[in-house]
Amino acid sequence: MPFYDLKCKCGEVFNKMASISDKENRRIKCPKCGSNELETVYLSVNVVKSGNSDNVRCPNIDRCGGCCPHG
Ligand SMILES: [Zn+2]
Repeated sequence: MPFYDLKCKCGEVFNKMASISDKENRRIKCPKCGSNELETVYLSVNVVKSGNSDNVRCPNIDRCGGCCPHG
């Protein structure tokens, strides 16, 4: 059975293992308010941040130790 990350209209986010027919027939209910008006969210998507891994090596690193104002 697939595992769903679900968000309720009340704001509750939870995950639930359920069959596809359970989901399509709205048989999954919010544990907080009992509503079946849920939307699927994807919490496990890896968010990769870019821009902070800028390891520009100083060309004079063996002379200056990497502390010269290169760049
Ligand atoms: Zn709810």
